[in-house]
Order: sequence, then structure tokens, then C-alpha cells
Amino acid sequence: MTDTNAQPAYKIIDHTYDTVVVGAGGSGLRATMGSAEAGLKTACITKVFPTRSHTVAAQGGIAASLGNNTPDHWTWHMFDTVKGSDWLGDQDAIEYLVREAPQAVYELEHAGVPFSRNEDGTIYQRPFGGHMQNMGEGPPVQRTCAAADRTGHAMLHALYQQSLKYDADFFVEYFAIDLIMENGECRGVIALCMEDGSIHRFKSHAVVLATGGSGRCYFSATSAHTCTGDGGGMVLRAGLPLQDMEFVQFHPTGIYGAGVLITEGARGEGGYLTNSEGERFMERYAPSAKDLASRDVVSRCMATEIREGRGVGPEKDHIHLHLDHIAPDVLAERLPGITETGKIFAGVDLTREALPVVPTVHYNMGGIPCNYHGEVVNPTNTDPDAVVPGLYAVGEAACVSVHGANRLGSNSLIDLVVFGRATGLRLKDKLKPNGPHKPLPANSADLALERLDHFRNAKGSIPTADLRLEMQKTMQAHAAVFRDNALLAEGVEAMDKVNAKLADVGVTDRSLIWNTDLIETLELDNLMSQAMVTIKSAANRKESRGAHMHEDYPDRDDKEWMKHTTTTFEGWGGKGGKVVIDYRPVHDYTLTDEAEYVKPKKRVY
Ligand SMILES: Cc1cc2nc3c(=O)[nH]c(=O)nc-3n(C[C@H](O)[C@H](O)[C@H](O)COP(=O)(O)OP(=O)(O)OC[C@H]3O[C@@H](n4cnc5c(N)ncnc54)[C@H](O)[C@@H]3O)c2cc1C
Repeated sequence: MTDTNAQPAYKIIDHTYDTVVVGAGGSGLRATMGSAEAGLKTACITKVFPTRSHTVAAQGGIAASLGNNTPDHWTWHMFDTVKGSDWLGDQDAIEYLVREAPQAVYELEHAGVPFSRNEDGTIYQRPFGGHMQNMGEGPPVQRTCAAADRTGHAMLHALYQQSLKYDADFFVEYFAIDLIMENGECRGVIALCMEDGSIHRFKSHAVVLATGGSGRCYFSATSAHTCTGDGGGMVLRAGLPLQDMEFVQFHPTGIYGAGVLITEGARGEGGYLTNSEGERFMERYAPSAKDLASRDVVSRCMATEIREGRGVGPEKDHIHLHLDHIAPDVLAERLPGITETGKIFAGVDLTREALPVVPTVHYNMGGIPCNYHGEVVNPTNTDPDAVVPGLYAVGEAACVSVHGANRLGSNSLIDLVVFGRATGLRLKDKLKPNGPHKPLPANSADLALERLDHFRNAKGSIPTADLRLEMQKTMQAHAAVFRDNALLAEGVEAMDKVNAKLADVGVTDRSLIWNTDLIETLELDNLMSQAMVTIKSAANRKESRGAHMHEDYPDRDDKEWMKHTTTTFEGWGGKGGKVVIDYRPVHDYTLTDEAEYVKPKKRVY
């Protein structure tokens, strides 16, 4: 059908599907497979070729209580995940995750993921930060299944190969611009074909956002340059909230200067950190878990060492990671990728020397609020769990919330496949193949085309790359590992100004064929709204919990703050900019009676 209201200059090509998945990382591919398997007419739209999604870069592994190398149980995994989340995770969703995890790993094994093996042929599992035996009592458990240090690579390729078996249509190098919303219901999505500039309108019963994280709001990040939170941007423009955006995970070991990740598996295999005095300082802060305490704890200890003058290097601004005591053949077998990474990005032969590392933005615990079926929720006065019809979210873009205030290492890859699958099952329950569609509203493409046209013709004085850098530096300086009232207040003021400058952005390429200048500007618009809700919810939360360490409120305050933050954002392109903050209760109940509610206590490792 043709839309009479659309800008005439843009040719619109119409498509009709039962399900449209936006994103082809681990979560998007798994949801696509589930939907197609249910017989639903399914499309998967992705701005990069599927196997280039950021999932490909995951190194360390995927958590599941298989118990191959040490005793383990799903209740222990549940305890660790709740504790890791600093009691902000929803315990019903966490129970679902950990119970489904072993089956999800076997499914990947059967799909062809070449997991590293034990002598007896079972899947090899390594220790990872915060994963313990005996309901947190310890010793550390070996729970993280790995394909050497290229687990994400193996997983994404296996999932992509499998997905080709199903009857799903892939729209590769298509950039989703905005959702089509009607009376609070999602009706589809508008995308730009980057190759020829054609506009594609997807009418569908369900849209699944699997667009990944928004790490690129910050200057130093381990995530790909494509991790620009496009799904979150679309959701905010649809007037829907994001949840818990103040919780940004810093990974302790990004290579100093480059930001490239050195997996936690490096410490899992025996690596340790030292300060300028050569001291293994983690023994002082976390006597039992030491270098394998959870990520927020290790990052903060490193930052403290640096702040107190015990950093290494001429500027005393980083820390050393030692792997030089590990036998070279073990390194070659278990950590071949990072041996290479160390050489390329730090010029270090890590069989002989220490690697310079520094805490780097790694993961967004916050995102699009949804339940454990992947259904997006938009809290109302009467129902904090009210579902948005037609809209789903999975993967790092989503906030289920299983990671709460802090994600444990190797719990994201498992989240992708467990909830990708759960979403497929929900779609199967809810939709009938080739169900009838109502006509779309006449204005269905207006928002997307207005934004596209606006940025394409933007003649302002600030180049996109300059403004992006200013945003990234502001976020890095004001909303990183350490936060306090003064720093956050300054940051909020600065970000208000940075956001307003988006109205004066300038794009030089006016074409529609592979216009990367335009795409990066649309991405910047998405990053900007998320940076704004991130820093404002950080300034609003007057406690310390998980990754959000507030020096003026050093303790967790369960009475006042055991609740999810929800934030909406007004406008786009530098106009508006108002952030409204509200709350949603944490699910303090389990899914079944077989799991015990993990009662809040102080989180020490
Ligand atoms: C370096 C690194 C190492 C990691 N290691 C581990 C690990 O060992 N274990 C673990 O559990 N977790 C790890 N993580 C975290 C984990 O890998 C990610 O959270 C996860 O892979 C995200 O998957 P995803 O499916 O949500 O999205 P992604 O893999 O990021 O994919 C996003 C998809 O969305 C598409 N997309 C985005 N915007 C648009 C748009 N506008 N239009 C169309 N398509 C769009 C992209 O093309 C892409 O296909 C690591 C992360 C990083 C950065």
C-alpha cells in the first residue's frame, strides 16, 4: 500500500511479515530461528552482516551449571546471579535463565559450536568472576563453557549457519530508523537500505528489538563502533521508557589506550593484577575471590589503586595484568586470541611481560524493560508490568532484568540464547502464521522520514564525529567508575549542552547511497538520548549498588532504592531533551517453589 502522507521524495517499498527481528547478533538470530521454526513469516533486519555483530567478539564464554569440572547446581548459579546483580535483578527471570541454561548450551553444542573439551570429552568449563560453589560460600565454581577465547565467534557462526536452515528472510545492511506505533501498539518498523537508499516499510504483528548495547556513549569501550543503542533510541522516540540505564559495566581489563578487551578468562586461567609496587592488591580487597571478584569490585579496586598513586606507567594511570607465569602451551591452547591481541594492541609478548590494562565500558545492564518472555513492558499506574502489544526485546538491548545492577561475566551469552529462544516460544503462542493485518496508519513513515530527511540535509556547523567525541568524553569524565554528587551534577549540565548542540550538527554527504555520514548521525541521535537518560538516572540514584558507585552514598539502600529506574526522553535531534524519571518494583519472587528467594544481604567477595 502507498502512504499518501509520506515525503514524496522517498520511494517506499512495503513488506508484510508476522515477525520482524531487528538485529542479527546472538539474541536476534536465536529469536529469528524460533519465530521461523514456529511457522511464522519472519524477517531479520541487520545493519551489519550477521557474523559481524558484536557477539562475534565475545571471548571468555557462556555460563551454565553443567558441573563438568567442579560440582555445580542451578540454585548456586541463581544465587550468584542475584548477588552479582546486587539484588536489583528480577528473581523470576533469573530462575528462568539459570534453569534453561544447561539445555541452551547443549543446543549450541548440537548446533556445531566447537566447545573446548575435557579429557573425557565433556565440555570444558572455566572459573569466572563471581561464580561460586555452595550458595556463594565458595570455592569458585567452573561454570563457564568456552570455545578457547573465541566463544562468541564460534557461537555466532553456528547460529548464523543454523538460521539459514529456516525459512526466514534476511535484510542485510538495512538500517532500522524508527518503529511504527499506533495507539500504544507496535505495528512494524521503517528501515533504510544502505546500498541503494530505498526505504522499506515492514508491517508486522511483532517487532523484536535485538540491537545490542550502547557502549559507544563512552570514550573508552570494548564494544564495536556499531554498538550505538539504536533499539533504545527507537523506544525512547516512541515515548516508551528505558530501565536502569545508570548501571554501566566497566570491564577491569581493557587494553590501556586501545580499549580492546582482555577476557576475564585470563584471570580465570590464573592471571592476576599488580600495582606499581608489584603488589597483588586484589588479595587485600577481596581476600576470598581475589582477582576473580565481580567486575564492578575489581574495576573499583583498580581505580582506587590508580587514584591513590599506585598506578603503573609514566602517568601512573593504569594497572598490570600478569599472565607471564602461565605455561606458554596453556596460553596457546586456552587464550590464543588474547595472546595475539596483546601483541597487536599493546606491543606486549604476554608470555614474558605484564599487559597494561584499565577499566573500560563493557556492558549495559539497563535497556528496554521486558519480562522473561521478551515482551516489552511500559509500566502504568495500576500495572508495573503492562505489556506493549507487538513489541519485544532481547539481548543486551533488553533489560529483563537478570543482570540487575551488575552482570556476571559469561551471563550475557547465555541470556542471548535463553531469552532469544523464550521470545520465539512466546511468538509461537501468541501469533498465527500469516494472520490478517489491519492497514497501517497514514502517518506510519512520517517520524522515520522526517528524521532521515532532517539529518540528511543538516547544514549545521558541528561535524558528527566532533559532537560524538564531546559526548563520549563528557560521559567518560562524569559517569564512569567513580561518581559523586558534584561530578554528576556537572555532567548533567554538560550533557544538556552537548545534546542541544545536536540541533547544529552538519552532514556533508547528501546522497542516499552508502551515506555513512548520515548513518553515523542517526546513530549519534540514538546514542545521545541514551547518554542523557544514563547520566540523569545516575545523578538521581542516591546510593551505591553494583556498577553504580556513588561516593557520597557509599552504601546500598534497600529501603529507598531497591527499585528499577525508568526514564523517558522527549524529542530528538537536539530538540526537547527533557528526561522524566519514574520507578518499577523489583520482582522479589521466584518463578516456581523449587527456587528459594535469595534474601538481600551485604555483597562481599
Ligand atoms: C569484547 C566483548 C567481549 C565479550 N565477551 C563476553 C563473554 O565472554 N561472555 C558473555 O557472556 N558476554 C560477553 N560479552 C557481552 C556479549 O557479547 C554481548 O552483550 C552480546 O553479544 C550482545 O548480543 P546482542 O545479540 O544483544 O547484540 P549484538 O551482537 O551487539 O548485535 C546487534 C545486532 O543489531 C543490529 N542492529 C543494531 N542497530 C541496528 C539498526 N538500527 N538497524 C538494523 N540492525 C541493527 C546489528 O547489525 C547487529 O546484528 C562481551 C562483549 C564484548 C564487547
